[in-house]
Amino acid sequence: MTDTIDTKNLLDWITRYRDAVVEKREWLTELDSAIGDADHGANMARGMNAVAEKLDATGAPASVDELLKVVGMTLVSSVGGASGPLYGTLFLRMGMAAGPVTELDPTALAAALRAGLDGIVARGKAEAGDKTMFDAMAPAVDALDAAIAGGAGLADAARAAADAAATGRDATLPLVARKGRASYLGERSVGHLDPGAASTAILFETLAAAIAS
Ligand code: ADP
Ligand code: MG
Repeated sequence: MTDTIDTKNLLDWITRYRDAVVEKREWLTELDSAIGDADHGANMARGMNAVAEKLDATGAPASVDELLKVVGMTLVSSVGGASGPLYGTLFLRMGMAAGPVTELDPTALAAALRAGLDGIVARGKAEAGDKTMFDAMAPAVDALDAAIAGGAGLADAARAAADAAATGRDATLPLVARKGRASYLGERSVGHLDPGAASTAILFETLAAAIAS
């Protein structure tokens, strides 16, 4: 087995992510009802269902950049909330970084995710500790880089990234939100997990699962 992730594995990741956000939709909405407008679960389920329908209807593209582009464009166009354009940007930038290939080695996957994260920052201006999806995603991408630099294989590196995302999600609990709707609450946002950090932890958990399968 070669240590790469191909378009089929990426499609498996996207399908798993869809299934997981649909399954955890009520929880994500509950988190958003505490510090937002109670639509994060609905937004993510709608967006990922639209992605699955689009890929079913048109067939999944054979190249990594085209596949990720369809995912990103569909999320941007089908989700009204802040999370749609942000997750859309993640996938669009990932695709642009990956290029017209059919598989990614660990370094290329990490570089694509880093480009996606940079795109989210360029769009939303979140910094560490602002209580956003960044607080789960940045540690996950850092952990992926570190694991790969240390010689880990793709499966172990993705596992480390998923663990770091979960830790980052949990670390949003005591933070005061400084970006997005939750920032309107100021100190009252303390004591709640950030919904976007929760959906990001799911994103990396499903990536690890897809790679391990
Ligand atoms: P909305 O806030 O428009 O209702 P969602 O509820 O779907 O959209 O998504 C909210 C999540 O989006 C937040 O929990 C946070 O993680 C993320 N978010 C909001 N604004 C930003 C931002 N500027 N940068 C990064 N993430 C953000
Ligand atoms: Mg919301």
